[in-house]
Amino acid sequence: MSYAIGSAGMDQILAELSKKYRIFAPKQGKQYIRYGEVSSVGEIVWQEKSHFSPKEVFYPIVQTLLYFTDTECRESEIKDEREILLFLRACDINGIRRLDQMFLKNGGQADNFYQRMREKVKFVLMECAESFETCFCVSMGSNVAENYDLAVRFPREAGGELAVEVKDPALEPYFAGQKPCAFTPEFIRENKKQVQVPAISSRDLVPEIHALPFWKEFDEKCIGCGGCNTVCITCSCFDTADIVYREGSRDGERRRAWSSCMLTDFTTMAGGHSVRAASGDKMRFKTMHKVYDFQRRFGEENMCVGCGRCDMRCPKDIHFSETIHTLAQEVERLKAEQGSKEGGYANA
Ligand code: SF4
Ligand code: SF4
Repeated sequence: MSYAIGSAGMDQILAELSKKYRIFAPKQGKQYIRYGEVSSVGEIVWQEKSHFSPKEVFYPIVQTLLYFTDTECRESEIKDEREILLFLRACDINGIRRLDQMFLKNGGQADNFYQRMREKVKFVLMECAESFETCFCVSMGSNVAENYDLAVRFPREAGGELAVEVKDPALEPYFAGQKPCAFTPEFIRENKKQVQVPAISSRDLVPEIHALPFWKEFDEKCIGCGGCNTVCITCSCFDTADIVYREGSRDGERRRAWSSCMLTDFTTMAGGHSVRAASGDKMRFKTMHKVYDFQRRFGEENMCVGCGRCDMRCPKDIHFSETIHTLAQEVERLKAEQGSKEGGYANA
């Protein structure tokens, strides 16, 4: 069922929902739009894209996994037992499916610390009124999402009503007595930015892709700040560290914190050797992971969902969408060259 509800009415529903659910949505901070708890419609920023993704709600930036003493070890607990309602856009719903793949299905063993939070989350789809400047979700095939519990269209004019579709029967009672309407969310069908996605049809192409001179351009340009990974809905890398509380003590905790393949020390090993020291090598690794390796491992979809946040975030004005596009063109050139020499590559 779908309902038309004024902001005040929706605030009452949110108040009722908050007894069972913590409600998270994009909020305006001092500098950035990022995810935080909300209790009213007015707090939710829907006219602009959030700078940070919703992943930090259920995959925290820093998280204590375990507490240990000399003789004992126990898992951390989740302090707030309530479930979570998460307002997010179609690209992010699709991005979380990629994160689920990494944390729950990779290697045949689910990550318990991710799973216990993720299982609490219900999705509230925020309908996009327009495609934002850096979005390329259509090119990445992630502009449409069906996996949501509620969908919301925010009022286009002051004082207007929200339209809400309720898919999850468990949420239906909260909307009892509201005015029914005919609403199902619409999805963006065209972005201003159109990106050609690399069609790497054979593994034999990979060494040649690695040797492309264009990666070297990033050696100077990219400063390895990791900002692009931090805002990405599909980046999942983390570091773990054991923290002891006092010098000489064996009491402490194990924490994990987000990390980034673009950081200088990410691949540094004992002895100081770094597998990918140059920024161009890091960019190549990240790009191939986002538009080739993930798909090759799990099938069907690429990792990048085209949310465009990394393009907004980069202090050096590096546009990942353009990197993908250039790679796609280079791949076509390599295929044409090889095709004319050898009769083409067989499919991988
Ligand atoms: S790589 Fe960039 S565009 Fe792709 S999902 Fe990550 S932040 Fe979004
Ligand atoms: S691409 Fe931009 S945001 Fe990413 S590490 Fe390089 S400089 Fe930082």
